[in-house]
Amino acid sequence: MDHQKYLSSDELLEKIFYYMSRLFEEKELSTTLFLLTDLGKALVNSDRASFWFWDKRKHTVWTLAALGIDTITIPENSGLVGASMMKNEILIINNPYSDPRFNPEVDKQSGYFTKSILTMPVTNSEGKVIGAYQAVNKINSDGSDGQFTEEDVKRLSLATAFCGRSLESYMLYNEAMEDPLTGLKNRRGLHAHYERRIATLKIYEKASMIMCDIDHFKHVNDTYGHNAGDEVLKYVANLLQTSIRIDDGAFRWGGEEFILLLPHKGTAEAVVLAERLRKLVEDSVITFEGTDIKITMSFGVGEINPELTTEENVEAVDEKLYYAKEHGRNRVISVIPNEPAESDDTSEDPKE
Ligand code: GH3
Ligand code: MG
Ligand code: MG
Repeated sequence: MDHQKYLSSDELLEKIFYYMSRLFEEKELSTTLFLLTDLGKALVNSDRASFWFWDKRKHTVWTLAALGIDTITIPENSGLVGASMMKNEILIINNPYSDPRFNPEVDKQSGYFTKSILTMPVTNSEGKVIGAYQAVNKINSDGSDGQFTEEDVKRLSLATAFCGRSLESYMLYNEAMEDPLTGLKNRRGLHAHYERRIATLKIYEKASMIMCDIDHFKHVNDTYGHNAGDEVLKYVANLLQTSIRIDDGAFRWGGEEFILLLPHKGTAEAVVLAERLRKLVEDSVITFEGTDIKITMSFGVGEINPELTTEENVEAVDEKLYYAKEHGRNRVISVIPNEPAESDDTSEDPKE
């Protein structure tokens, strides 16, 4: 306690409020984690800090690198972070190289020298561990190397408590937007994405939308079973997700219906992408429990009209998709030809 300078209570509160107000407005996970990390670092006066997020599904723990772009991923039970999370225990280590749980490999790779570490589990409102905070290399007020103490634990606890709630609300917010089967964002996710990425485009910036639907998917379920159908949905979702650029969004709109939002793409470019996807699907063989399944998809493509609502824009591409369905399926339609309107309302497919 003696020679270390801590923030006064007022300074501390000011800092926390500053971060709190910024965090409440923040919707991006990377920025949220970055802010929380920064807060932790400021509270304990450490050289570095990181927040580790526990992905229980993948049995890994990951962190955003300093600039928030790259992530570092480690197995969930490794190192001090793993030890702290698994036992829900605060670890103060002021001599890491003599602690068997410390993994010096990271130092070796990064050229950094770790002298002291404070690791603290982060819990959600039910008290379950969802991640861990780690502050590295305590610095004294005179700039010399310091040791983490119980005082630092107290201060970091403030940040971790807040961190836990922020992260939890972020996770809940995102879970509500995600389709659990395919991992794509759902309808709600599309609306959020639309507001963020499409509605904010400048008036002269184009954007397009592709809506696609698996042909005769009911037949897939009927022939191979519902589980096979699920596998096909996952396959298609993955194909869409991996075929678009980072700026684009892929969404599960409904059962076997997907939407792609493509900022900065005009209709012509969107048609090229849709045609490529159509071909990829057509050429795919999806294997489920030893059986090969072949499918095709139909596509409606259109430029987004910023004057219309999201729903109205979706309706416009849906009409094109419907036209593709009515005219043979396994095709891309971006313009509905001007032909005398056939007003037969049969919901059955006229062919087959
Ligand atoms: P079309 O070519 O006109 O699109 O015909 P379709 O058979 O694909 O369309 P239809 O709307 O008649 O059937 C869609 C089917 O998709 C019916 C529904 O049971 C199935 N489906 C919807 N969601 C899921 C899902 O999550 N898993 C599985 N396996 N099937 C689903
Ligand atoms: Mg279908
Ligand atoms: Mg459908």
